[in-house]
Amino acid sequence: MGSTIFSKIISKEIPANIVFESDTVLAFKDINPQAPIHILIIPKIEIPTITDIKGSEHASLLADMFDAANQIAKQMEIAESGFRLVLNCGRDAGQEVYHLHMHLLGGRQMKWPPG
Ligand code: AMP
Repeated sequence: MGSTIFSKIISKEIPANIVFESDTVLAFKDINPQAPIHILIIPKIEIPTITDIKGSEHASLLADMFDAANQIAKQMEIAESGFRLVLNCGRDAGQEVYHLHMHLLGGRQMKWPPG
């Protein structure tokens, strides 16, 4: 279908700084980083947002995304110090790209509450 920019990154039509790839998941550096480490972890299939997730269908894919996050955090040496995973859903959360993605942020002290 190729409906978002992330589909074009998956198909390698446009370049990205890829840090992890498996059969089901791709992860690459965010183009506008909000922390020293800011990686986007996406499924290779098109799921627009959190409300499109079906546990019965996507459970193993979601597990793959968390496994990727842990692997990348270890690879980037922030597993011990800590990191934050963020999924924005819809307008009020400020979602810009309607292809499900997990932000992995680390390398600095995070604040709470988020903006
Ligand atoms: P969200 O606001 O949760 O939808 O986040 C979308 C994220 O995608 C933002 O942090 C953008 O900086 C990032 N982004 C958009 N286009 C690209 C791209 N071509 N390569 C890497 N990151 C991108």
